[in-house]
Amino acid sequence: MFPPITILYDPNLEISEVKGIAKHLEETYNVEIKELKECKLDNKTYNKKRDQFDGQKLLNMLIDKKNLRFFFWIVTKDLYVPVMDFIFGLASKFYGAIVSFHRLETREMRIKESIHECGHILGLEHCQNFCVMQYSNSLNEAKEKPSFLCKNCQEIIIKSKENFD
Ligand SMILES: [Zn+2]
Ligand SMILES: [Zn+2]
Repeated sequence: MFPPITILYDPNLEISEVKGIAKHLEETYNVEIKELKECKLDNKTYNKKRDQFDGQKLLNMLIDKKNLRFFFWIVTKDLYVPVMDFIFGLASKFYGAIVSFHRLETREMRIKESIHECGHILGLEHCQNFCVMQYSNSLNEAKEKPSFLCKNCQEIIIKSKENFD
């Protein structure tokens, strides 16, 4: 079994929404969600010129400074990495992921991107099939992909899970 995942969330979010996301992650990956904790963004990661937060720095802070593992962080501010205009999320395999709901207005899109980023935590790469793990660089691309895993990714998850037994 995978270790349980801790969900961290922006205090702006409704806890009921966070619980809804947690349920979808549990169902998709058969993984336990251990805790839901509020977590604020560190202002040091804010880029005033871009009016965005640096996703990589935020992720690294939790991995390196707070030493967290298997965390999934949901934020409401816009995120970027230096080479891109914006990102929906960012992950580090077997460590953790961050997802931003800033550009994702519908519940469906939020669930979908959460499933995608969580897939990276559990060992998935981007996928070319009709699959939630398709890479999406725009809102339209994100809309077009499904919210489920293809067969191939499901098999990778099963194997990945075995490594933790
Ligand atoms: Zn991805
Ligand atoms: Zn796939």
